[in-house]
Amino acid sequence: MSSKVFSPLPINDQTCGWTQALPSRQPNATLQGEQAADFVIVGAGYTGLSAARKFAQLNPNAKVIIIDAQRAGEGASARNSGYLVDSTLNDGHMSDTGLQQYREKYALNKAGVDCVSQLVNDHKIDCDWDATGKFHATAVPAHESKLQRFSELLKELELTHRVISGTELNHRLGTSYYTQALWTAGGVMLQPAKLARAYIELLPDNVALYENSPVLTWRKQGMDFLVSTPMGQVKAPQLLMAVNGFMASAGLKRKRAFPLTLTASMTRSLNDAEYASIGSPKAWGLLSAQAMGATVRLTEDRRIMVRNTAEVWPSMNMSTRHLEQRKRIHLRGLKRRFPQLSDDVFDSCWSGVTCISGNNGQVFDQLESKVLIAGCYNGGGIGLATLFGEQMAYLASGQMTDAIAMIQARPKPNTLPPQPLLSLGVRLRLIRDGIIARKEN
Ligand SMILES: Cc1cc2nc3c(=O)[nH]c(=O)nc-3n(C[C@H](O)[C@H](O)[C@H](O)COP(=O)(O)OP(=O)(O)OC[C@H]3O[C@@H](n4cnc5c(N)ncnc54)[C@H](O)[C@@H]3O)c2cc1C
Repeated sequence: MSSKVFSPLPINDQTCGWTQALPSRQPNATLQGEQAADFVIVGAGYTGLSAARKFAQLNPNAKVIIIDAQRAGEGASARNSGYLVDSTLNDGHMSDTGLQQYREKYALNKAGVDCVSQLVNDHKIDCDWDATGKFHATAVPAHESKLQRFSELLKELELTHRVISGTELNHRLGTSYYTQALWTAGGVMLQPAKLARAYIELLPDNVALYENSPVLTWRKQGMDFLVSTPMGQVKAPQLLMAVNGFMASAGLKRKRAFPLTLTASMTRSLNDAEYASIGSPKAWGLLSAQAMGATVRLTEDRRIMVRNTAEVWPSMNMSTRHLEQRKRIHLRGLKRRFPQLSDDVFDSCWSGVTCISGNNGQVFDQLESKVLIAGCYNGGGIGLATLFGEQMAYLASGQMTDAIAMIQARPKPNTLPPQPLLSLGVRLRLIRDGIIARKEN
């Protein structure tokens, strides 16, 4: 069998504000020479790290090798907005089938939340866990009907929520920008890079983690798979691809999953005067009622994060010059909400690669016998990546679980059109959604 080549490879811009807030850490070794393992995992984000931990626990005599192209846990798993969600915004439903589909989607997300929650409790993980829910908000009165329809849906599922507007909303958020918000109780806000760092620290002794070791090729060799990096090789009878946004490299699920590059900026901690000027609200997390509207967070340590771009970006990671341009877009979004803050208040800006499908389906699959692949969480990956990673470990250990049955019963991502039609179609869709959300980003 000929080798499959990974391209493009991830590049770490080293500018992620969540990672910069952590103490520095000595990197693990790069992969060198010939190694053998029982299970090799490519990609050390939430998915790969969860799979490695669980497989090593289930098979204490096995040797697991996990390899990342950059520092472990510094891909999307450190760069995301930190919303661990059970319910996702839905524009009502047209039929009982629609309601049932939403119930099933909710049940899967809830299983993801429970999975992370259990780890955080069992290991006393410090990740700034804040279980005070999340807001879905709009700044456009004409979009409020969407929140009303979502409220009706949540009522049918008996999920605690509340629609808020006027002075109460202004005080809660510290801005009068939004006209209405729907608060749901189930969401958790957290510091994503702290969670990823904890997943690295939880790896059992029978797991070897190699960093800064991009996997360039993989191929079958006899009964094993051979994974090659610039300076080393690993031979193993089972392989898990946990590269999420880079799934389209090496021909992985090219027709079903699609990478998008998102960018975000975060302010320094607001000083006392700035914090008082916004009314000293408690921390909050807010998602827009529109697909391309801004995600905005006020953290416990008084930082404001704004994420309001999503783009088709063939080289995946953005250069410093492109990040500077995106930072200006984030600043416009920040100033619409908090005009009193100064123009130099952002102290970090980063890009991250996420993975989407045409129908919100996730990838939990086998590329060929003994080659597993998990990812494509459509923006809901904190819980799902942790859950899917653990469940991949059960599958690789030959064990069936209720969670695997639930995941496998979900619709698979549908087939996407071939390139260049696909990129063109996604770009047009993003432009259309951007126009609808122009007052919300
Ligand atoms: C800006 C942004 C905001 C987001 N916000 C949220 C949110 O609020 N809530 C939520 O639930 N989800 C959110 N997501 C999605 C979430 O971050 C992802 O779904 C989740 O992190 C996926 O985890 P993962 O381990 O599968 O992928 P990743 O964390 O991306 O890990 C994949 C790893 O594979 C490595 N890799 C890739 N190619 C190779 C190779 N050839 N060789 C070796 N290693 C390789 C990468 O370096 C990377 O570390 C967001 C994503 C982004 C980018």
